[in-house]
Amino acid sequence: MTNVDFNELFSKSKKVTPGGVHSPVRSFKGIESGPIFFSSASGSKLYDMNNREYLDLCSSFGPLLLGHRDPDVEEAVKGVIGKVWSFGAPEPYSLELASYICDHLPWIDKIRFVSSGTEAVMSALRLARGATNRSMILKFDGCYHGHVDSMLVKSGSGLAGVGESSSAGVSEQTARETLVAPLNDKEAVKDLFKQYPDEIAAIIIEPLPANYGLLKQSQDYLEFLRETCDENGSLLIFDEVISGFRVAFGGMAEVTGITPDIVTYGKIIGGGFPVGAFAGKKEVMNFLAPDGPVYQAGTLSANPVSMVAGLATLKKIKSTNANTVASEKCHLFSDKVNQIFNDNDIHLTCHRDASLFFIAKEKHLSSPHQFDDSHAPLFQAIYPQLLDKGIYMAPAAFEVGFFSSVITDEEALRAAEVLGQAFVNNLKSL
Ligand code: PLP
Repeated sequence: MTNVDFNELFSKSKKVTPGGVHSPVRSFKGIESGPIFFSSASGSKLYDMNNREYLDLCSSFGPLLLGHRDPDVEEAVKGVIGKVWSFGAPEPYSLELASYICDHLPWIDKIRFVSSGTEAVMSALRLARGATNRSMILKFDGCYHGHVDSMLVKSGSGLAGVGESSSAGVSEQTARETLVAPLNDKEAVKDLFKQYPDEIAAIIIEPLPANYGLLKQSQDYLEFLRETCDENGSLLIFDEVISGFRVAFGGMAEVTGITPDIVTYGKIIGGGFPVGAFAGKKEVMNFLAPDGPVYQAGTLSANPVSMVAGLATLKKIKSTNANTVASEKCHLFSDKVNQIFNDNDIHLTCHRDASLFFIAKEKHLSSPHQFDDSHAPLFQAIYPQLLDKGIYMAPAAFEVGFFSSVITDEEALRAAEVLGQAFVNNLKSL
C-alpha cells in the first residue's frame, strides 16, 4: 500500500510554484487538513495518491457534468488524439461543435472558441467595446468573471460607482473603466446609466451568480437589465461559464427566455479539456477580426481534442438528459440536508439551483453582503470531517457544490448525511 506524505509534496510544490498551486482556490488555505494530491478519477469518484476514494462534489469546479471520464467522451478523445493534437489551421472538429451549438441555441448565430473562460470574457468585453464604440463596462459585486484585469475590480467607497482594483497589478486606470453595482438593485443600475449616459458598452452578469455562494437573481431583475441595455444602446453579456449547459442545456438564456447580446461559455463546453467560447448574433460577432475591426486570436483556440470532447459531452448531455438527472440527484441531496438541519433545530439552509448547491445561515440569498463573519470559520471547521468520510468539496468556504449526473441516489443521500451531520455536530458543540 502506498503512503505518500501530502504535506511533504506540498512543501516541494511551494518551492517550484507560487503557493504550491496553479490556481489559488486549490490551496487549502485556511483549511486545517489537506492538501490532498489526487492521481486518478472515474465516474463520481476521485482517488488520491494513497488510493483513498472520495465522492466528488466539486466536478473540477463545474466542467464534469457527466462525471469523470465518461466512456463515450473518452472514446471520442482517443479517436482524435491518434490523428492530431493541434493544427493551427481550419479543421472539421470546431466546425462540427460550432454548428451543433448554433443549431441548438437560437440566440447564437456565430461562436468563437478560445482556451478558457477568462479568455472568453476578456474577448467578449473587447467585442462589446468595439461594437458600441464605448469604454465603460458595468459589472456586479458578487459575480466573478475570471481573472481579466478589468473584472478584478470591487465596488469603491459608495455602493455603486467606479470600481477599485481588487488585485495588485490591476491599475486604477483600468479599474476606472469598470462600474460596479450591487446585485439585485435596480436603482443603482439606473443611477449609473444616468451618471454615464452613452458611455456604458455593456452590462456583464452571471445570470445565476455562483461564485460567491448561490446568489439567485429574480426573473424581473434580469429582464430589467435587458430593457435597460436596450433603452441605452448597451449590450447585455450573460457570463454562462458555470450555468451554460448545466442549469439547462441552454443555460440561463433558456431558463429565463432572455436573449443576451453576447454569451460566454467555458467549463462543460470542453468536457474537462481547456476551452472557452463567446457567441452571439451575427450583427455583433461580425465586428471580430478578420471580418471586422476587433482583434482577437489564439494559437491553440479550438484545439481539436477539446472540440471533440466538447461535442461528445454536449451530445451525451442531450441524449441522457444529464441536466435533469444531475438536478434530481442534487435535489435529493439538498432535501435530505435540510431535513437534517430541521430535525436538529439548526438554522442553516442548503440552497439549490439545478445541480448546484450551497449551505448558508441565510434563508434567502441574493447578494454577497448578506454573509457575516461566521460563514467561513463554520465551513472550515466541518471540512476535515468531510474528507475523513470520503466526501470531496472545493476547499473554500464560498464555492458552490457541483453535482454530476453519475452520482447515484445512494451516494447523494450518504453525502447529505455526512455533510448535514458535520454541521450539526459542529454547531451543537459550540
Ligand atoms: N466566468 C465565470 C462565471 C466563472 O465561474 C469562471 C471561472 O470559474 C470564469 C469566468 C473564468 O473561467 P476560467 O477559470 O476557465 O478562466
